[in-house]
Amino acid sequence: MNHFTYHRGILHAEQVPLAAIAEAVGTPTYVYSTATLTRHFRVVTEAFGQHPHLLCYSVKANSNLAVLRLFAQGGGGFDIVSGGELARVRQAGGAPSRTVFAGVGKTPDEMEQALAAGILMFNVESAEELEMLDAVGRRMGTRAPFALRVNPDVDARTHRYIATGLKTSKFGVPFEEAVALYARARKLKGLRAVGLDCHIGSQLTSAAPVKAAISKVAGLYRSLREQGHPLVHLDIGGGLGITYAEETPPSPQEYARTVLEAVKGTGAHLILEPGRALVGNAGVLLTRVLYRKRTPAKLFVVVDAGMNDLIRPALYEAHHGLRPVVKRRGKAVEVDVVGPVCESSDVLARARPLVLPQQGELYAVMSAGAYGMSMASTYNSRPRPAEVLVDGAAWRVVRERERVEDLWRGERA
Ligand SMILES: *Cc1c(COP(=O)(O)O)cnc(C)c1O
Repeated sequence: MNHFTYHRGILHAEQVPLAAIAEAVGTPTYVYSTATLTRHFRVVTEAFGQHPHLLCYSVKANSNLAVLRLFAQGGGGFDIVSGGELARVRQAGGAPSRTVFAGVGKTPDEMEQALAAGILMFNVESAEELEMLDAVGRRMGTRAPFALRVNPDVDARTHRYIATGLKTSKFGVPFEEAVALYARARKLKGLRAVGLDCHIGSQLTSAAPVKAAISKVAGLYRSLREQGHPLVHLDIGGGLGITYAEETPPSPQEYARTVLEAVKGTGAHLILEPGRALVGNAGVLLTRVLYRKRTPAKLFVVVDAGMNDLIRPALYEAHHGLRPVVKRRGKAVEVDVVGPVCESSDVLARARPLVLPQQGELYAVMSAGAYGMSMASTYNSRPRPAEVLVDGAAWRVVRERERVEDLWRGERA
């Protein structure tokens, strides 16, 4: 469900014609819909109904301050993976006390900042990290609240770059070691066990791996409680998939049913960490056609958005829908849509049937709200795109287009 639809042949974000934004701000530009963002947040939280839970939006999916503020105002918490993300959450008015901190490489400095800020819990990913967190806690004269992130060794059946719950993955501690680690932590004065955590991967499109992983982790939660660990939070991670092309991910309701069934009887307070499911279909990337070129092998369409602006197709061979901002009739031809970056992997869409794109024509790259701008770089010394937030008939720039001078900030010739 999203709010990008055609009215009289013109693609709109809510009530705003996308062409008007492109005229005013230029391209490439990310455009987000407030109505879609708030709707997704509400639908996911309502799916869990009366079961005690906290939605901790995964900041890395889209870390624009305006997006964070919307979720903070909706009562959400946050899932962060760095000190930088913690700073963003605070800058946007989010509460550290509703924020969980994951990641395999938290530095002692980051731990200290998060502890001083009053973080809800650290999701600890190794035995050595646990010892380090204990040292930081003791140095600060407090006990750091933590959960162990366990690796349930479940195949999430997603792209291998976004699967995190397999034995071979760098994430979490091996399931079998969790009991001993909680026992060890109980002896440490700088730690306080408050939960148990897992996250098996991203863009999950079936409920089966969710059920398998969470059932396993819920069982561990029960036995840890029986062993006297005063756990209260069961953090089930994020990962709920979205429809980019033909995928049929579980609905939020089906996802919630699966989770609630698996955690039945634990009495745990649930923490959810959705990223993509909240923001993915709430954003598009506006781009303009520069050139067409025919080679003996192919017809290429060169657009002004490159892999530095949206890396998902190059990195994950991801599919994004492409819609002309002004609908046109005609016979579809097969084209490769490519960006300007000097890399052969800078391909936005391969062998895509489109009504022959025209020079100067505007396209919306669909489902670009998650892992779009947050993964953008300045490779090829290309300033990063502007970001716009639409709300009904109104819109505003929520991040200015990067300027060329910004590219060498801090450099010395
Ligand atoms: C990335 C990440 C998420 C969010 O994943 P989505 O697929 O965007 O929902 C949640 N938890 C952790 C620990 C993550 O690293």
